Amino acid sequence: MNGKDRDALLSEFETHGYAASFPPDEPLPEVCAVLNATMLALLARAEHLYGRAPAGSPASVIDHPGTDRLPVALDRKDPRHYCVLVNSLANTWEEAFYVLAHEVVHLLNPASSESDAVATLEEGVAIAFAETAYTEYITPYTGSGAQRSPLRGEYTAYIAAYDAAALITASTLARVRETFGSFAHAMDKATMQRICGDEITDKQAHLLTAPFEF
Ligand SMILES: [Zn+2]
Repeated sequence: MNGKDRDALLSEFETHGYAASFPPDEPLPEVCAVLNATMLALLARAEHLYGRAPAGSPASVIDHPGTDRLPVALDRKDPRHYCVLVNSLANTWEEAFYVLAHEVVHLLNPASSESDAVATLEEGVAIAFAETAYTEYITPYTGSGAQRSPLRGEYTAYIAAYDAAALITASTLARVRETFGSFAHAMDKATMQRICGDEITDKQAHLLTAPFEF
């Protein structure tokens, strides 16, 4: 993030951060402004670790009460624009932070279609990034981990994806993303092993390059 972006972000928090209550009964502009500023800060962190998102895929947070659409969705009015939907997934600011931290990893290379297969690595990195950001920024004052973490759920596919992806360092992940073009397309096990062989086992390389079963 450059200095200008950083200043704009800080002024957004100063203007709206203390006034905005969450969850909103209606999508108040100040709530969306704080969510957007948080998302941009997290996206900048993900880009710093894993490389830049392609230019021209702008994103914002849209509050859609009652929607059951995917958390990252294309804006129907503008197909070049991606939206992160947090309302159905979060009841507190802390839960919203966790959702945004997860979804910004998907925003690095947004899927163009809901039916596209996605390598398990993509989901594992998203969980690992969200867990680390939450532990760093939220846990120090709440004293606990993310309540809505998929790692607390019954669905073992998330846990296996996280366990393997969390072993890979950020610099190696940046190389994986550069090689394949995105985490979602990291579906060649031999290439994965060549890049990450020192950090994960053969079995983990197999798992991470297989399509994720949502
Ligand atoms: Zn995800």
